[in-house]
Amino acid sequence: MRKYFSEAKKELSKKLIEGGIKMKLNITLFGALPFRRISKTAKRQRRTHLKKTAPTVTICSNCGAVVAPHRACTKCGFYKGKEAIKVKSEEETK
Ligand SMILES: [Zn+2]
Repeated sequence: MRKYFSEAKKELSKKLIEGGIKMKLNITLFGALPFRRISKTAKRQRRTHLKKTAPTVTICSNCGAVVAPHRACTKCGFYKGKEAIKVKSEEETK
């Protein structure tokens, strides 16, 4: 469960009363706690910018496979209409 500053303060004061100790609440007793809970709306508004984006892809001019832009085709090894790299066939890799 998430704890907030006000909740922690209440809990501590309860403990102190049960134990019969009278002392002023020292704010430095608490660690880093959010001062107040974030509302549903505020949380959702913040998260509107958190989203995934689809990767940019192009199509190979030689074989029509889906390729990352500015890179040689992984299927046929062609780049800008020329064979840039030699791609091993499935039989060779086995
Ligand atoms: Zn290709």
